[in-house]
Amino acid sequence: MERILLHPKKLTQTYADQETRRIMEKTVEFFETKGLARIKHDDHQRVWYEDFLEFQKREQIFAKLFTPAGYGGPNARWDSSRIVDFAEILAFYGLCYWYTFQVSQLGLGPIFLGKNEEVKHRTSKFLKEGAIFAFGLSEKEHGADIYATDMMLYPQGGGAWRASGDKYYIGNGNKAALVSTFGKMADTGDYVFFLVDSQHEKYECVKNVIDNQSHVSEFVLHDYPITEADITDRGQNAWDTSLNTINICKFNLGWGAIGISTHALYEAMNHAAHRKLFGSFVTDFTHIRQLFSDAYCRLTAMKLFALRATDYMRSASETDRRYLLYNPMVKMKVTTQGEEVINLLWDVIAAKGFEKDTYFESAARDIRALPKLEGTVHVNMALVVKFMPNYFFSPGQFPEIPQRRDANNDDFLFNQGPTKGLGKIQFHDYNLAYRSVDLPNVRVFREQIEVFKEFLMASLATMKEQGKDIDFLLMVGELFTLVAYGQLILENKKIYQVGDDLIDQIFDVLIRDFSRFSLTIYGKPITTEDQQKICLRMIRRPVVDTARYERVWNNHVFALKDAYRINP
Ligand SMILES: Cc1cc2nc3c(=O)[nH]c(=O)nc-3n(C[C@H](O)[C@H](O)[C@H](O)COP(=O)(O)OP(=O)(O)OC[C@H]3O[C@@H](n4cnc5c(N)ncnc54)[C@H](O)[C@@H]3O)c2cc1C
Repeated sequence: MERILLHPKKLTQTYADQETRRIMEKTVEFFETKGLARIKHDDHQRVWYEDFLEFQKREQIFAKLFTPAGYGGPNARWDSSRIVDFAEILAFYGLCYWYTFQVSQLGLGPIFLGKNEEVKHRTSKFLKEGAIFAFGLSEKEHGADIYATDMMLYPQGGGAWRASGDKYYIGNGNKAALVSTFGKMADTGDYVFFLVDSQHEKYECVKNVIDNQSHVSEFVLHDYPITEADITDRGQNAWDTSLNTINICKFNLGWGAIGISTHALYEAMNHAAHRKLFGSFVTDFTHIRQLFSDAYCRLTAMKLFALRATDYMRSASETDRRYLLYNPMVKMKVTTQGEEVINLLWDVIAAKGFEKDTYFESAARDIRALPKLEGTVHVNMALVVKFMPNYFFSPGQFPEIPQRRDANNDDFLFNQGPTKGLGKIQFHDYNLAYRSVDLPNVRVFREQIEVFKEFLMASLATMKEQGKDIDFLLMVGELFTLVAYGQLILENKKIYQVGDDLIDQIFDVLIRDFSRFSLTIYGKPITTEDQQKICLRMIRRPVVDTARYERVWNNHVFALKDAYRINP
């Protein structure tokens, strides 16, 4: 079996080229040289991460990773497989480093998705100079409701405008060379994306709205002068660009959760395995083993799913939009699983998790952010339930997507087109993956899926009305996404040669989750009697196999003891 979890001092991942490997190795070296004490000092003192930004500039990392092919040097391409590797490493050391990378990428979205070629070349120059970028979408009063945006461009005649308005929660808003700003044309009401410079005299960075190393800014434009050269998109295109940018970038949130959870797991294991209480090591208690085993399985599942979802992201095309299901799942499912992993680990390391010189202390705080940013879990779940009918009842035919670690530019991500017609998107038959293995817990899970299909069939008459209750719909969505989650994990079993024991143990966890969500639906006020009966049949017990559980503990989970420790 290939190593699934990141071990920064033993990078076993295959990279498409030497340059990509070098970027990852150099990044690890930067953080290991900085060491935990300095990382924590900067965290507590809220030090702006100039050192990291200097490092990325020297190594030309953003320039290589974020300049789409054709606009930068020979090693520059937008290649999601290496972007997510980089995201994982950054979060492994500190979410603030990940955040400046993430919001830069968001800021670049409207530029490279837009129609303004001159701006793309100007941006490529900024990237070479080591600049960072920002994405000015959110406003204080409107939250997720971006229709209500009130940043305005007021026409001045002769292709000139004055921008006026306020933006809130804008990462890098203190230093960004270019801030991609979403607003409306004051005269026509058309949407528009335009660029401003955070250092311009008409740009006021009011404050950092959070207490953190990152700068999440409130900024105000005071009659900021804009010309045609600063506009990247208008009308429907500007609207589509805002959604498509988030589509591309929200994927990294799952990778942030994976990086945080992985480091926390190493740290928790090192602590517990060396701590002796009442004459035995903490890792000998049965409940601690269960907590660790579940954390390990959940984390491995997160990574297997996200890796496979990356293959679909990279292989997307006009005729293959399956990524529109897997991508929001990386955003919401993987990030909430990250919270679950940290919850489990915190119950293991208890008081230690509060200590200021641990990685865990920051992890426990930061993991909470990821499900909430770039669209909450609810918004993403409401999006993916649209795929449920076709996923279960009308599968399509697709050629098998291979593992995608090649050195290609992900062209389609910049040509996604309008975000319409979601209900028409088809998926390949999930049964193909589920039939590819014959394992006790996968069999039980398949039976749960069959009963869930019965639930959906029995709900045809009531679902239209019940679907209006988002609370109810979210829980149905949880069951649906578990099916797609398990599917991609199984697809990666073959690719990463994951052993039967570990997969069966992962499905032990998934069966329990499926049962838990079924019980929740059972208890909802609007669940019909027929649905209640079916819910009770979806609650199943995983197949107990003590020998398998022991093997997973010894070969995978406890094997992490002393495997990795960050330099002090
Ligand atoms: C640290 C941090 C960094 C950020 N960085 C940036 C940035 O760089 N650029 C940027 O533009 N923004 C940024 N944001 C804003 C962030 O993306 C928004 O906070 C987020 O999109 C949700 O908006 P809100 O928190 O105001 O929730 P609200 O919009 O107030 O939503 C309230 C509740 O209603 C639910 N809800 C709303 N609409 C729906 C719906 N249609 N269906 C179902 N449920 C719904 C939500 O799930 C939520 O639970 C940042 C925020 C923070 C805290």
